[in-house]
Amino acid sequence: MNFVRRSAVALVLLGTLSACANSAQQSVTPLQNDGCGAGSALERPLNIATTVAPITSIVANIAGGSGATITGIVPEGTNSHTFEPKPSDAATLENADVIFINGLVLEEPTKDLALANLKDGAIICEVGSAILSPDQYIYDFSFPQEGGKPNPHLWTNPPMAKQYAQVVRDVLSRLDPTHADLFAQNYAAFAEKIDALDAAMITATATIPEAQRKLLTYHDAYAYFSVHYGYTVIGAIQPSSFDEPTPKDIANLITQVRESGVTAIFGSEVFPSPVLEQIGAETGVRYVDVLRDDDLLGEPGGAEHSWLGLMRFDYATMVEALGGDASALKTLDVSDVVKDTATYPQ
Ligand SMILES: [Zn+2]
Repeated sequence: MNFVRRSAVALVLLGTLSACANSAQQSVTPLQNDGCGAGSALERPLNIATTVAPITSIVANIAGGSGATITGIVPEGTNSHTFEPKPSDAATLENADVIFINGLVLEEPTKDLALANLKDGAIICEVGSAILSPDQYIYDFSFPQEGGKPNPHLWTNPPMAKQYAQVVRDVLSRLDPTHADLFAQNYAAFAEKIDALDAAMITATATIPEAQRKLLTYHDAYAYFSVHYGYTVIGAIQPSSFDEPTPKDIANLITQVRESGVTAIFGSEVFPSPVLEQIGAETGVRYVDVLRDDDLLGEPGGAEHSWLGLMRFDYATMVEALGGDASALKTLDVSDVVKDTATYPQ
């Protein structure tokens, strides 16, 4: 299959769907029914299970201080798209009162294990599916429609992450009404930080020459982000199979990079790729290989080990590599609103 032709198709599709997603995003209102089920109110601290680290961090910001136990399932630095839970994860899942997953078909094996071990009255809440309807999903080169897996990376787009937090607040308030005021307070403080991050990214983006606001990434984690901030995703390198592209694809990609005039191409820390290095070397374009979509910075307990810290890092990396000024981002306080006591498997 000709990569350039496939990419062009993917691009056209992205353009159309992006416009769609954009107008839909503007009109998204808080859901009356998040689809996560009522659950039953409990008179004790909650046991919460989560999947990927950014969702764990968002949940920890809302649940913090309530005495809840929060346990992540997907170890940081692994490929969350192909992750298979260990049999021992069943114990975490069967203890949980609520299991927050991303949805959009990101964590099917974990969801299956959760369903098989769900205790009476417990609920599985798909935060991504709760805030976005299927007609708003973005499909593209790495996540083609025929594969049935939409691009699941909603959390790299701050307004959507804020909606995740809102769903978490609402679900936790139903299950633990005693702490509803605390969850509301945590949400308000967290939402303020998300808004500050969003405003800083808008400021920083404005310093990048408009023609340079183009993203060519290895792992395609910025589809919804790009719609929101006005970047053009000119392509993604990682095939939907998560294999490396073929030599012919690479040759075509080199042509595409030369023609696009991009100043940098972005790799993923979770998916080291010699191919990107080769493309960078042959085109003379800067190759930045440190973006990360679900692997938080540093170690659990560290100041930047948070969704806020992760996003600030990615955004500042992109802005600087594309010739912009990231100082609005660098001065942000990205500390959590409450101490994060979640368990992050490593
Ligand atoms: Zn990803």
